[in-house]
Amino acid sequence: MTSPHRYLVQFGPKQTSHLFTDILVIGAGIAGLRAALEVPPELDVLVVTKDSIQQSNSSYAQGGIAGVLSPEDRFENHIEDTLTAGAGLCDREVVEMVVREAPEQINDLVRWGTSFDVEDGQLALTREGGHSHRRIVHALGDATGHEVMRAIIDRARQAHNITLSDNMFTIDLLTHDGACVGAIVCRLGGDKLLIWAKQTILASGGCGRVYRETTNPPVATGDGMAAAYRAGAELRDMEFMQFHPTVLYVAGSGRFLISEAVRGEGAYLRDKNGERFMVAEDPRAELAPRDVVAQAIVRCMDRTQHPNVYLDLSHLDPAKVRPRFPGIDKVCRSFGLDITCDRIPVRPGAHYMIGGVTVDAHGRTTLSGLWAAGEVTSSGLHGANRLASNSLLEGLVFGASCGRGAAEAAAQMPDSFTVPPVRCRFEPETAWVLDAADVTNSLRSMMVRKMGVVRDRAGLKEAERDVEFWCRYALAREFHDRAGWELQNLLTIARLMIGAALKREESRGVHFRRDFPNRDDASWRRHLNCS
Ligand SMILES: Cc1cc2nc3c(=O)[nH]c(=O)nc-3n(C[C@H](O)[C@H](O)[C@H](O)COP(=O)(O)OP(=O)(O)OC[C@H]3O[C@@H](n4cnc5c(N)ncnc54)[C@H](O)[C@@H]3O)c2cc1C
Repeated sequence: MTSPHRYLVQFGPKQTSHLFTDILVIGAGIAGLRAALEVPPELDVLVVTKDSIQQSNSSYAQGGIAGVLSPEDRFENHIEDTLTAGAGLCDREVVEMVVREAPEQINDLVRWGTSFDVEDGQLALTREGGHSHRRIVHALGDATGHEVMRAIIDRARQAHNITLSDNMFTIDLLTHDGACVGAIVCRLGGDKLLIWAKQTILASGGCGRVYRETTNPPVATGDGMAAAYRAGAELRDMEFMQFHPTVLYVAGSGRFLISEAVRGEGAYLRDKNGERFMVAEDPRAELAPRDVVAQAIVRCMDRTQHPNVYLDLSHLDPAKVRPRFPGIDKVCRSFGLDITCDRIPVRPGAHYMIGGVTVDAHGRTTLSGLWAAGEVTSSGLHGANRLASNSLLEGLVFGASCGRGAAEAAAQMPDSFTVPPVRCRFEPETAWVLDAADVTNSLRSMMVRKMGVVRDRAGLKEAERDVEFWCRYALAREFHDRAGWELQNLLTIARLMIGAALKREESRGVHFRRDFPNRDDASWRRHLNCS
């Protein structure tokens, strides 16, 4: 069952306040703010974000941003590494464009005051899984996102044409005559607002919160993807959720990510009996790609009937470990774990949504007037598996491109704006008070069990039935708060993800079907559009 109503809430132009802007940006992560900064000063930009401006996946990024900056590296290497990771589904032209733009984008961040870590006066470059060369710039050791976002938020605050509005939840995209004309948002306190925009840029990030185990902060509930879907934009490749193999598994830890750089520095993965199980799984052992390690961990947890495995750094030099991973050290210590001698309990968690709103190389969606950048999109960069540290980069390149494109389109539109006759009325189901948090928890647990790292037809069919059942009563009603709208969006996204995972009867990249364990290029080397 799809959403029975075009909009999640009822509204009419007479009962709702109005606001006008040249360009509306939904989301204030790296993609949204980079887009806003690209708009020339003569155009007004309104950036809305559903929480505080610091709450985005971008702020939590640890490892860094990939770019060819070393004389020993070449664009061709970064391109090949990205294509290899993408398992046959990358769009080569997009990969080439993004890789070639990376050094310039990183230099812009430096010009805007980002303090990347340096070594001998040069940007320090590290190497992550799947990269053939050292090419990852990072900041504050393992808190790159925090530093990059500090600089980019400061820069946006200084721009006179940019207004940053936090605590503004976008409920839906407004459409008229087949084009996006803005969004309906809800301010903290509950009053709704119609924002009419000449052009709209969607940069609302991913949907990791559809899983109970995830590295994503609470804002990542796929609102933008679901709103774009309701508005008629095409989404694709929703089966490709990348799982991070090592997420801290301690009650109350909020599922904190333990960066793969920890394994890069030599940490071992052990099962509950102390066995280094990755040695038997892959010649690269702990340094195998993310999807291989995540699948091996799930197999190990099944075998040992234990809810997690352990990271072990006790054989490494403690004097080097602490300064290299200050953030991880601090979080683990707050749970009574000493990373230099204790084993750290970890298990895979949803990390990055590869699928999303289809965009072309400029960031144009299939819906006129709507652009999109960052994790909310499927741009063709990542294919079926994202190469580490390529996503902040994607946000920068596509953010800038959307900002430019939307500005050009807005500049060609007339200055005066007539409010189109957009409204929504329906008879909501009101039979029973629904505990949105309860359904959300059930959904998130079910997704881990049946739509997790390892999938099969039987589990996916059950998942489909569960979601259809919840949709039947949760989508037909009108909610008046964020928890309710987030549940409706999560259900919509889960349904699309499960449908796509059922359809793709092969294993490719991050999508592993134990009933179809091989890659099948003849039938499946193609994107899957969602309907
Ligand atoms: C723990 C962690 C570590 C990572 N490490 C790295 C790394 O080292 N390198 C790398 O390249 N990538 C990394 N990633 C991935 C990367 O951080 C994200 O893919 C990227 O930051 C996404 O940027 P974005 O701008 O598209 O979305 P986000 O940064 O998530 O921003 C989304 C914005 O949209 C807003 N929003 C969402 N819904 C609504 C709504 N309904 N109404 C209004 N606003 C809304 C949010 O409030 C937020 O401001 C990591 C991710 C995580 C979670």
